[in-house]
Amino acid sequence: MKRKETSSNTLLVNGTNGQNGHHGQHDHSIDVIGDDHISTSINTPLRPDAFEKDDDLKIELISKHFREIMQILGLDLTDDSLQGTPLRVAKMYVKEVFSGLNPDNRPDIKLFENKYKYNEMLVEKDITFHSNCEHHFVPIVGKSHVAYISSGKVIGLSKINRIVQYYAKRPQVQERLTVQIAKDLMETLETEDIAVVIDAEHMCVQMRGVEDTQSSTVTSYYSGKFENLDVRREFLTYIGLNA
Ligand SMILES: [Zn+2]
Repeated sequence: MKRKETSSNTLLVNGTNGQNGHHGQHDHSIDVIGDDHISTSINTPLRPDAFEKDDDLKIELISKHFREIMQILGLDLTDDSLQGTPLRVAKMYVKEVFSGLNPDNRPDIKLFENKYKYNEMLVEKDITFHSNCEHHFVPIVGKSHVAYISSGKVIGLSKINRIVQYYAKRPQVQERLTVQIAKDLMETLETEDIAVVIDAEHMCVQMRGVEDTQSSTVTSYYSGKFENLDVRREFLTYIGLNA
């Protein structure tokens, strides 16, 4: 099933509105945006022709270009250890770490009737995920905590995990990842009552730039009943974030 990501909402942070895409490669604003991890849109910015090339062709082309990057860096591609790297990276990009770009890879989710009439909040916490920062293409590693209050429909618990993994497997910014998970679950579960909290470490902060290895970033999204402070507090207590 192909599905289009809905919502035309745009996150506007510090007046940045996504018009920076055509600047030259040494434009200072690119560094500023990259290092500040500002996201411009809830939808992953994809080209209209994103899926015209099939996976095999993408792997072939990325492999070719990655070989070139390695060569420019001065690496000797005839070395046994390096020989297979371009293809390995290309396969990893297309089939694994960026496979969530393709809507065909979204997990199939069956909706069930909530037979037990359980209408308290359901919390799925500590969902470990690995993503990649879209500004530096290095990992974001973190935990996601998700809660919903059933509107009469439920999904298998593992599906929440799978939705998190699907959106994580894209070049991402943490704010967008948070909202994409929330919006998908709202639509899938047919409820407004959704909470998502993500606590993640960004390798682009730890291994370069300020090289801060202690900090982590927390983002959250609350809607429906979770806008109520008591409900939100209950959720935060479950995930161990309430002081
Ligand atoms: Zn980054």
